Amino acid sequence: MNIKKVKILATEYDVEEVEQIDKYTRLLGQIEYTEQKIKIDKNISEDLKREVLLHEILHGIFEKLNYEGINNDEQKVHSIASTMYLVLKENNLINVW
Ligand SMILES: [Zn+2]
Repeated sequence: MNIKKVKILATEYDVEEVEQIDKYTRLLGQIEYTEQKIKIDKNISEDLKREVLLHEILHGIFEKLNYEGINNDEQKVHSIASTMYLVLKENNLINVW
């Protein structure tokens, strides 16, 4: 993945691909609001990395908007991210990634 930084509503996050995000659970991505970091599992496909990045970006947006309810609803965040990624992909809107 080419993206190393992503700006979410005036907050700049570093994007890092890491070997393991969490020892105990199989997380594919994680956003750390205070450290301004987005971690993505380096061992997944490029396609999935982009979808996971979009998922974490959504968390960043909802955090900024104080949409706490939806931000804590992983199922909803996942559904929005995966369907949005599909739309972007099927319309060739993600060429720069
Ligand atoms: Zn999530």
